[in-house]
Amino acid sequence: MALLITDQCINCDVCEPACPNDAIYMGPEIYEINPSRCTECVGHFEEPQCQVVCPVSCIELNPDWVESREALEAKVQALGTLVATKSDN
Ligand code: SF4
Ligand code: SF4
Repeated sequence: MALLITDQCINCDVCEPACPNDAIYMGPEIYEINPSRCTECVGHFEEPQCQVVCPVSCIELNPDWVESREALEAKVQALGTLVATKSDN
């Protein structure tokens, strides 16, 4: 399931750099989450980092994007944002 930023957002800019999948961007009025890139932080962190850092707790689950854990793991693989096996050679 992707996450969703509600209209309680105060545009504090904190969540955008916290997202490991570059799923958060500034929309016409408030920050928004691209559900195609949000994995609930699966593959990167134990908890959704945007929810952890948001000072006004305005980030919720998006009921229109229900996905299983397996689907989220496949999604992060497809995004190619995992860096655990990265080699500098
Ligand atoms: S839950 Fe994680 S991947 Fe999804 S928008 Fe928040 S920080 Fe990004
Ligand atoms: S951290 Fe919360 S209040 Fe700040 S920009 Fe993100 S969603 Fe909006």
